[in-house]
Amino acid sequence: MNDDEPTPKVVLSYGLGEDSTAILLRWLEDSTSRDFGLDELVVVSAMTGDEWDSTRTVIEERVLPRLAAAGVRFVQVARARRHVTIAGDGVVILDDSRSPTRLCLDGAYTLYDEMVEAGTIPQSGGARICSVHAKGDALDPVIARLTRGRPYRHVMGFEAGERRRADKDAGYNTDLRTGEYPLIEWGWFRGDAIAFTESVIGTGVGKSACTFCPFAFANKQNRSEIFARYAADPAVGAKTLLMEHLALALNPAQGLVGGRRLIDMLRAQEMTGVLEAFDGVLAAAPHALYEVRRILRPRKSDPAKLGNAVRSVRIRGRGTEASLHTVLDRLAAEGKAKGLIERQVGEDGIVRVYQHRRGPLFPAIERYFVVAPALAAAKEHANFDLWWAEALTAHHTAPATAASAA
Ligand code: SF4
Repeated sequence: MNDDEPTPKVVLSYGLGEDSTAILLRWLEDSTSRDFGLDELVVVSAMTGDEWDSTRTVIEERVLPRLAAAGVRFVQVARARRHVTIAGDGVVILDDSRSPTRLCLDGAYTLYDEMVEAGTIPQSGGARICSVHAKGDALDPVIARLTRGRPYRHVMGFEAGERRRADKDAGYNTDLRTGEYPLIEWGWFRGDAIAFTESVIGTGVGKSACTFCPFAFANKQNRSEIFARYAADPAVGAKTLLMEHLALALNPAQGLVGGRRLIDMLRAQEMTGVLEAFDGVLAAAPHALYEVRRILRPRKSDPAKLGNAVRSVRIRGRGTEASLHTVLDRLAAEGKAKGLIERQVGEDGIVRVYQHRRGPLFPAIERYFVVAPALAAAKEHANFDLWWAEALTAHHTAPATAASAA
């Protein structure tokens, strides 16, 4: 980062979408829309590493040249690893320029890396934790470094229909930081923002999101737009399916579309290009034989309900998909002879060989073996074996409480 630059008074968090693009363009076009000089502004973006390429094209071709012409400082950052420190260790500056020409979408340690390493998908219930980690964790220390302990105005692109988000954001104000929301001040909704951007650069910039964002699948209209983008670029759809496939192998409930499986939807839509691309990626991927154990604990206030779950993932072998399925089949045959093992093909089409099936009571336990792409890391809490032993005992002696399996 260029530490010789003057300290900015205004920081725009640029999410690369319609809302923040409209703010930026209006400030560039209409000096009466702001009460600060462009030399007092810094624009910051955190890259998740998985943006749509169409976002790169439109911003590089139509927005960055305007930023460069006005000499506005644009700082692009990303995480270099899963956890970063408040001081900024683990954050990389991808670009820091007053004449930017490229959008550094590739990031460093991407959100996709994080998800497959954990064998999961971004969770769509509640807060957008993925965004907090992939963007917020990278931006916070960089903004602190840019503003050098001086007061600054932190501009967010919430549109007029997002007052609640703005109110929540204002809750993060400090003695130094003051959140500002120009679109709300201007009374601009998303449509107004898009119309303004179109009037300046001839087109909107489209939705900014990760190519696998579960929130983007929220409604039918959005889904069909994303499916069309996958059809246009099957490799992107295949990469998303690979993430979902791995997450499903380790937890059958991890469908990407609010728990429902994306692959089922793409099959129903007969998106053969994407499905064939996925088959190809899967066939080429090195695989692992995973041992998955899960403990589902009861809620303290209501033992019939699930409180929380913990998981252990161990890697029992690596090889080709076919060779590991041979191992899995042998395990199933040997276990079956002892009455210990049950082979099952799930609704997701994935073969799992179970030693313990989760029952209807909590605590419930589950242990199975499964073959999946070798992208997930082995992971378990240091106390997992202890918890497992306790749960195993409780499992065998569980009182006959009516409980719903999670
Ligand atoms: S775009 Fe979606 S998946 Fe990506 S960080 Fe934001 S909420 Fe998470």
